[in-house]
Amino acid sequence: MELLSKLLKTKDAKSYSQASGLVRNALSPDVGLINPIELAPRAEIEALQLERLHWSLSHAYANSSFYRASFDAAGVKPDDLESLADLAKFPFTLKSDLRANYPFGMFAVPREQVARIHASSGTTGKPTVVGYTKRDIDTWAEVVARSMVAAGVRPGDMVHIAYGYGLFTGGLGAHYGAEKLGCTVIPMSGGQTARQVQLIQDFKPRVIMVTPSYMLSIAEEFRRQGIDPRSCSLEIGIFGAEPWTEAIRQEIETTFDMHAVDIFGLSEIIGPGVSNECVETKDGLHIWEDHFLPEIINPETGEVLPDGEEGELVFTSLTKEALPIIRYRTRDLTRLLPGTARSMRRMAKITGRSDDMIILRGVNVFPTQIEEQVLKVPTLAPHYQLRLFKSGPMDAMEVLVECLPDAQNSEARAAAAKQLSSNIKTMVGISVSVEVRDPGGVARSEGKAKRVLDER
Ligand code: ADP
Repeated sequence: MELLSKLLKTKDAKSYSQASGLVRNALSPDVGLINPIELAPRAEIEALQLERLHWSLSHAYANSSFYRASFDAAGVKPDDLESLADLAKFPFTLKSDLRANYPFGMFAVPREQVARIHASSGTTGKPTVVGYTKRDIDTWAEVVARSMVAAGVRPGDMVHIAYGYGLFTGGLGAHYGAEKLGCTVIPMSGGQTARQVQLIQDFKPRVIMVTPSYMLSIAEEFRRQGIDPRSCSLEIGIFGAEPWTEAIRQEIETTFDMHAVDIFGLSEIIGPGVSNECVETKDGLHIWEDHFLPEIINPETGEVLPDGEEGELVFTSLTKEALPIIRYRTRDLTRLLPGTARSMRRMAKITGRSDDMIILRGVNVFPTQIEEQVLKVPTLAPHYQLRLFKSGPMDAMEVLVECLPDAQNSEARAAAAKQLSSNIKTMVGISVSVEVRDPGGVARSEGKAKRVLDER
């Protein structure tokens, strides 16, 4: 652990900020809040990654019987790593590996050193269990605090957290990060939508952290109570835990007159705060690469793809103690892009997970592609679900949407349905049926939205 302590120490903040052309004027006064590694030259980031990667592989091999067996089976040892590219020699870790070692079989520290347990939301099956040492919790709080600074949050801001608390990493992950940054935290958790609105009105937080789909339910509750969401105190929203499109960003920003910034993470890697957008650019999520090393692979062959090409995102933890994770296949699809507001690389907004992909008569479709089209029809609300069913031997899709309160008459509904199915046909390339329901007729999310109802 001593080597890790040394590796976690960083240089003085000012040196990079002055030397680096990456620092934007807007950030200069707050540069003390930015960890200098965020602005370091690439060569320095990569040197640190290589040292840490060597530590992480050695730690996993020495202390986890799972990794020892998997490295041995692949005929590799931590010392085979001489460059970052050598990581490709090491085997992948899959969600099924975590499930097979349920609950604590992949931990690399004695159970007594595990300070906290979380579990994934179980969106795609039995939840996987993850653990953190005290230092892992500190690292996590730091990357969330860093994400919040990138989103424009500052010490002293009041932060309303409406991600679920509990085993799901969203609530407590956001909470510790906000506390670390020195914010006033409101641990509201998900649900009780009327109360969410009341507390926002009474406490006047500047920041909200919540899933984007639940933010839309909160907007609706504002209106139901006769309050214009634009009049509320919120200026910054940090939204994640599910895929969301630029169209939803625009919808939320206009509805609340606020900045909507994307945060990404998954419990197997640490939780929220693996990457985050910078509010001044909103051009993809900077990955905190000093803790999480990204790769993009071809999901079919496992081959590493060059930056810029779309494929499956794979992460290796560089500093995690309790559950080191080597080449974890996230199933999330995106591309790696060069740094902009920070020198750390960005990932493009997630298109979807490979297991969310619907293949309809040979065409690959992600729910986010349908979302973009729903939001283009001005008489429809931004809530939708996709029903998949068999029509004879063929798979078919029905898009369940709802009309806005002032477009409830039958002509308006028929026109909306026609416009949506025609847009989907032209833009996505599939034929779907559309059911336009009454306002409130599509199930609402209080956390991660469930977009697909598979009745096949
Ligand atoms: P589960 O896999 O059970 O949903 P988690 O709660 O750990 O477990 O969720 C992590 C997953 O949530 C990610 O792998 C990704 O699919 C999704 N996710 C998280 N943040 C985002 C985001 N900002 N954009 C798109 N998808 C996201």
